[in-house]
Amino acid sequence: MKGMQSINQSGGTPRYTGHIRKAEDDAPGWSPGPRRGSPAQLASELERIDGKGYGAYHDIAGGWDFPGFTLWVDRVQGDPYASPSRCRVVVPAGTAGLPSHLLRPRPRRLACADFLARRFGEAVAAAGGDVRAAAVGWAGAKGGEMGVDVPGQYVLERTAVQVGHEGHVEARFTVALPAAGRSVLGRWARSVLTEALPRYVNAALRHASLDAAALAAHADAAEDAAAARAALPALGLVAFVADGAVLPRADGASQAPMPAAWAVLSRAPESQAVVLTLPHAGRVRGLGIRRGVTLIVGGGFHGKSTLLQALEGGVYDRIPGDGRELVVTDPRAVKIRAEDGRRVCGVDISPFIGHLPRGRGTRAFLSADASGSTSQAANIQEAVEAGATALLIDEDTSATNFMIRDARMRALVSRGKEPITPFVEHVRRLAACGVSTVMVIGGSGDYFGVADTVLCMEEYEVRDVTEQAKRIATEFAAAEGGAGREEGRPPRDAVEQLVEISQTRAVGESLRWAARMLPQGPALTLPQMLDRLDAEMDQEGLDAITHSGEPAGDLARPRRFEIAAAINRWRSAHLEQCTGS
Ligand code: ADP
Ligand code: MG
Repeated sequence: MKGMQSINQSGGTPRYTGHIRKAEDDAPGWSPGPRRGSPAQLASELERIDGKGYGAYHDIAGGWDFPGFTLWVDRVQGDPYASPSRCRVVVPAGTAGLPSHLLRPRPRRLACADFLARRFGEAVAAAGGDVRAAAVGWAGAKGGEMGVDVPGQYVLERTAVQVGHEGHVEARFTVALPAAGRSVLGRWARSVLTEALPRYVNAALRHASLDAAALAAHADAAEDAAAARAALPALGLVAFVADGAVLPRADGASQAPMPAAWAVLSRAPESQAVVLTLPHAGRVRGLGIRRGVTLIVGGGFHGKSTLLQALEGGVYDRIPGDGRELVVTDPRAVKIRAEDGRRVCGVDISPFIGHLPRGRGTRAFLSADASGSTSQAANIQEAVEAGATALLIDEDTSATNFMIRDARMRALVSRGKEPITPFVEHVRRLAACGVSTVMVIGGSGDYFGVADTVLCMEEYEVRDVTEQAKRIATEFAAAEGGAGREEGRPPRDAVEQLVEISQTRAVGESLRWAARMLPQGPALTLPQMLDRLDAEMDQEGLDAITHSGEPAGDLARPRRFEIAAAINRWRSAHLEQCTGS
């Protein structure tokens, strides 16, 4: 068993204590300074420092009580070229006016916050408030723009806008405090903070100014997706694809749906159809992908990878209009791919890959430059170790020798010389251990014999071809004399499904969090450490893991699997340093 020797328990994790979950407009525990006064006082302060050295901006740190909200200037940048200043706006529940049906259950509150973040970013962009003034010459005016971390297609737990249990709203953003050369442009800063900002807050962070129907629909969609995901286990499903879903995207560079006039809408074959009853959408029919081993076969360009990609993202809720709102997947499903060149350190890949040339062992496999097959094996082991209960695999991004070895190749290269036991010989055993597999495979029928369900994509429509595939598998096995399968050990031992850069930033914070756990105490295994990290984020939110303790407005919550993937690669880097390889 692979342990996290280097990740230890410690009580001394610095943490951000006063945040949105505390009484709504109290000064935060992470205090940037005292409460300072009214917007008029902020305006006169900014006028007072106009033309002074840039450092004079430090004089505006702290809280400013606007009518209907408090502005917190948390951290003031040191100079015009440094990363912009961090600010927050806190709107009390009474002013925000969010109806209680948007505050619970949790998926609705997160969706409500997500909706507000989108409207806040739009309000700033619509007024041109996000555009940086380009300096003309050294002394020209520069800065002035506001930055809001604007979400994409997914509804994630994020720090840009948070809604408290009792309905207060906290919005976080950056402001590049404007300068000419290195002098304060105080009048400009005044117009940004005391004139433009209140307009954005009023337009986006108060229920009365928002499209109430659109906001409710946003929350309803997230709640339905969460309910559909929660219904999967009892039905023995790993995923559900609602009829009418639009799976293809507009183009390779865009996550927007393909226009409905071109897209073939999803429709489940009768034999694989299930009906879910959801809180808002009511009865919804769709394709139920069962636990066990499911193959997605079909000709090239018939929509196989598009279906799998929809399943990959189905671990998260999506925004109304995405087309895949009701494509939901087991939240513990992990996309597995070959990743040649990655570092692998101390992963037991022996179930998949035995002896290597020159007697190199694979029980604690070490490589600074893994091959396609060894990297894919390590990715599976790490995902299972982190707790994956389903693997999503696409032939397009897999190592062929990892996936299959046909009868002719077996005849030529004896088992004794081939270190790889292909995945086809493991997939049943994984299923028996509770790890389902959904895989796209267009080029090899070797998997027919080990599949529970075979779906065929034909002109973007799903057909159930399980019966035919089983018959073919039986006929071919008889003809080949039933070549015995080698029994592998069940792998114990994650990667990718990061859908926003904000999640990547939070993964980085998670690594630093893990590093702070280092100092003393008993070693934690990686799964134990991930449990602690998840518990910390569940209880305290994303702020709890930031290293500076400063309220950051640009984080979105990643899953444990993506954090595990980063830790595994990072751990590799460390061990390599230690061993000097
Ligand atoms: P495969 O993996 O089977 O080779 P892809 O999933 O990559 O096929 O899809 C091939 C092309 O078909 C892509 O350009 C994709 O956008 C388009 N496509 C996929 N699904 C649909 C659909 N349901 N309706 C219309 N076009 C689709
Ligand atoms: Mg494909």
